[in-house]
Amino acid sequence: MSRRAVGPNDVLLDVLYCGICHSDIHQARNEWPTIPTVYPCVPGHEIIGKVAAVGSAVTRFKVGDIGGVGCMVDSCGTCDNCLADREQNCLNGTSFTYNSRDRATGENTLGGYSEKMVVSERFVIRIPPGADLAATAPLLCAGITTFSPMQHWKLSSRQRVGVVGLGGLGHMAVKLAAARKAAVTVFTTSPGKIVDAKRLGAQEAVLWSDAASMKRLANRFDLLISTVPQAYPMQPFMDLLALDGTLVNVGALNQLEGGLIGMSMAFGRKSLAGSMIGGIAETQEVVDYCAARGIKADVELIRPEQIDQAYDRVVAKDVRYRFVIDLTAGKKA
Ligand code: NAP
Ligand code: ZN
Repeated sequence: MSRRAVGPNDVLLDVLYCGICHSDIHQARNEWPTIPTVYPCVPGHEIIGKVAAVGSAVTRFKVGDIGGVGCMVDSCGTCDNCLADREQNCLNGTSFTYNSRDRATGENTLGGYSEKMVVSERFVIRIPPGADLAATAPLLCAGITTFSPMQHWKLSSRQRVGVVGLGGLGHMAVKLAAARKAAVTVFTTSPGKIVDAKRLGAQEAVLWSDAASMKRLANRFDLLISTVPQAYPMQPFMDLLALDGTLVNVGALNQLEGGLIGMSMAFGRKSLAGSMIGGIAETQEVVDYCAARGIKADVELIRPEQIDQAYDRVVAKDVRYRFVIDLTAGKKA
């Protein structure tokens, strides 16, 4: 597969690392009816690369710099949402990193499971010097997707937050919420992750099946961040929200399950919300925030030929906590 020629505003990256997000699996396996997959599909949107060439008008990068690319590579730049730094909500259609429309060529975008990328410099994130590059890659999707709701709903140190699902997004949510000194509780279906949740910064970890704990924790949480990749009955989690609390669903992007009880939401003035990654400025912010505090993903490095096996392990909830493809072979990092 080839890349477009480097235009005046473009950066050519030699890809060094690319994280594996569960979204890659949904797209590779055509599991999102609203965004049918165009094949050949090259997934990957947690990309760290070394700048190998820059276009004539590029000002923010020079050859040899390290850049990051997350879930989007372009947007119209002129709609209200783009002007508000919400390029991921572009009213004229965000160009996502793969399985989307390349505004420059009209062709299908191709992601980071690749040797090279050509990306407009506006959509390349500066990676602070000294960063652990493999462990920084997941910040570009898992990090920003969980940081953005904490910013929007103003999660503070006095608050209680629950993280539902301890995978790639979930483990970043725990680290980022703990960094704000919020009280974090993890809700997991995997008994083996209870100990990990506490190591990652949670005060408590509860199994979904633990009815006594679910009852004890009713009406307590200001914010719940749900990273579960599929629809599931949400009312038991709505019951955990305190007055004015919000359950932010970032995980399940297909049709949600019914079963929410209007009386319960009205009585507690509770909200169900969604959130999509974060804008470019906010993505730069989370990368800088994590670099300043030494926050990084827990990663397991794999070689390209191990991707299929890694996908199966992600689906089996057996990733601790992000697979990252090592593409440094033959390149100077
Ligand atoms: P992941 O690493 O697979 O983590 C998801 C976790 O959810 C699993 O580890 C597991 O945690 C739990 N889980 C999985 N299947 C479940 C099931 N059937 N029932 C209950 N719990 C289940 O996935 P990820 O990369 O974090 O991505 C999570 C979801 O977010 C995906 O659907 C992805 O497409 C979506 N996503 C959305 C955005 C956005 O902008 N909104 C951005 C990135 C990703 P436990 O073992 O702890 O139960
Ligand atoms: Zn992702």
